[in-house]
Amino acid sequence: MTVSDASSSPSRERYPLVVIGSGAAGVSAARAYIDAGGPGPVLMVTEDVDRPYERPPLSKEVLSGEKEPTGDPINGEGLPDSVELLLATSVTTVSMAQQTVASHRWSVGYERLIVATGAHSNPLPTAQDGADIHLLRSLDDARAVVNAARASNTALVIGSGFIGCEAAASLAGRGIDVTLVTPEHGPQEQRLGAAASSRIKAWLEAAGVTVRTGRRVESVKAPRTAELDDGSTLNPDLILAAVGVSPGGTFLDDSPLEVQDGRIMTDQHLRAGPNVWGAGDCALAQHAVAGRPIMVEHWGDALAMGEIAGHNAAVEQSDLTPWDAVPGFWSIIGDHTLKYSAWGDGYSNAEFRERPDGFVVWYGDDRGELVGVLTYNSDDDYERGQHLLEQRASLSHAVG
Ligand SMILES: Cc1cc2nc3c(=O)[nH]c(=O)nc-3n(C[C@H](O)[C@H](O)[C@H](O)COP(=O)(O)OP(=O)(O)OC[C@H]3O[C@@H](n4cnc5c(N)ncnc54)[C@H](O)[C@@H]3O)c2cc1C
Repeated sequence: MTVSDASSSPSRERYPLVVIGSGAAGVSAARAYIDAGGPGPVLMVTEDVDRPYERPPLSKEVLSGEKEPTGDPINGEGLPDSVELLLATSVTTVSMAQQTVASHRWSVGYERLIVATGAHSNPLPTAQDGADIHLLRSLDDARAVVNAARASNTALVIGSGFIGCEAAASLAGRGIDVTLVTPEHGPQEQRLGAAASSRIKAWLEAAGVTVRTGRRVESVKAPRTAELDDGSTLNPDLILAAVGVSPGGTFLDDSPLEVQDGRIMTDQHLRAGPNVWGAGDCALAQHAVAGRPIMVEHWGDALAMGEIAGHNAAVEQSDLTPWDAVPGFWSIIGDHTLKYSAWGDGYSNAEFRERPDGFVVWYGDDRGELVGVLTYNSDDDYERGQHLLEQRASLSHAVG
C-alpha cells in the first residue's frame, strides 16, 4: 500500500479499479478484488484523514476510555500492496461516459469503479452559529470527543439511536454525568418497540445516564446552552449530537447512476451501472433472498457487501456472487450486547418474550412474515431467527 494525502494526486492517469471510500465496504472490496485475481493497481480515494480503521469501537471502548483513539486496522490488516490510498480527498464528480472520477484538483480514468461512500452524521438542525457540538462518525471525530471528554464533568447526548445510546453509556463509564435527550417516548422505541426500549432505558439509567424522553432540543446557543421544549436549559461541558446519518457521496445525485434518497441503486450482484458497483451504507441494493431493494447500515454487512462488489468486479459473468446474507448487527450499550437481524424496512407487529437472563423480540410485517429478530442473552433465538428470516418464515412460526 502506498499512502498520500490531499496535497497529492493519483500517480497514474487510469486505473484498473478505483474505489471511493476507505470504510468497511471499500477496504473489503479492494481486498476481495485482488484476491479474485483483479489486475492492479487499485486507487482508493477517501475523505478520511486516517488510514482505514474499525468504526464500531469508536462509540464503545474509545469513548469509554478503554481504548486510545488511534484506530484499529480493519480486521487487523493493512491494505494489499497494490493499493494506492489517497487520504483527505473528496471525489466530486463521476462521469460514466468518460469512465472518470474527479476531485476539485484532478481527474482519473477507471476500468471499474466501486462506490463505497458510506454515510455521514447529520448536524443538529437547531444548532445556532458557533455552537460547540460534536458528531461521531470518523476516528477524527472520536479524537475530538475524547479530547473534550477528558476535560468534561457533564455531557449532553442528543438522540437515542444505537450511536446515541452507546455513546451515552460509554461517556458515563468514564465518570461523566451524562444526560440523554430524545424526542422518542423511549430509546430506540420507533425501531425496536416499546418493550425492548424500556430495557434499554433501564440499562442506560443503571449506567448513570439521565434519560429525558419525549423532549426536543429546540436550540443550542454558543457555546453549549441547550434549550429544551419544556423550557428547561442545560449547560453541559460536552454536547454530542447523534441525530441520524445521510448517505455519503453527494456527487452521486449529479451522476447518471440510479440514485434513490441519496443511495446508489444496485442489482443483487451490487452492480449499479456499466463497470460500476456500489456497497455498504451508501447502497440501496437488491437482496437475493428478500426479493426487494434493502438499505443496511451495519459494519458486518458493509464488509460482506464490499467483498461481493470487489469479487464481482474482478470475475467473469458466470462467477458472479449475489448478495444473499441476512443483514444484522450487534450493539453494545455499557455491559449489554443486543443482537439484531432484520431486513430493516420496518415492521407492523412485535412479539416480546422473556428468556432466562434475557429476551427476544420477533418482528412481523402486515402480511404476517417474519422481518426481524432482536435478542439479548439469547443466542439460540438469534441463530434461529436468522435462519427463519432466510426461509421467509411467518411471524407465528417464529413465535412458536
Ligand atoms: C461510532 C459508530 C459505531 C458503530 N458501531 C456499529 C456496530 O457496533 N455494529 C454495526 O453493525 N455497525 C456499527 N456502525 C455502523 C457501521 O460502522 C457502518 O455501517 C459501516 O461503517 C459502513 O461502512 P461503509 O464502508 O459503507 O461506510 P463508511 O464506514 O461510512 O465509509 C465511507 C467512506 O467513504 C468516504 N467518503 C464519503 N464520501 C466521499 C467522497 N465524496 N469522496 C471520497 N471519499 C468519500 C469516507 O471518508 C469513508 O472513508 C457504527 C457506526 C459508527 C459511526
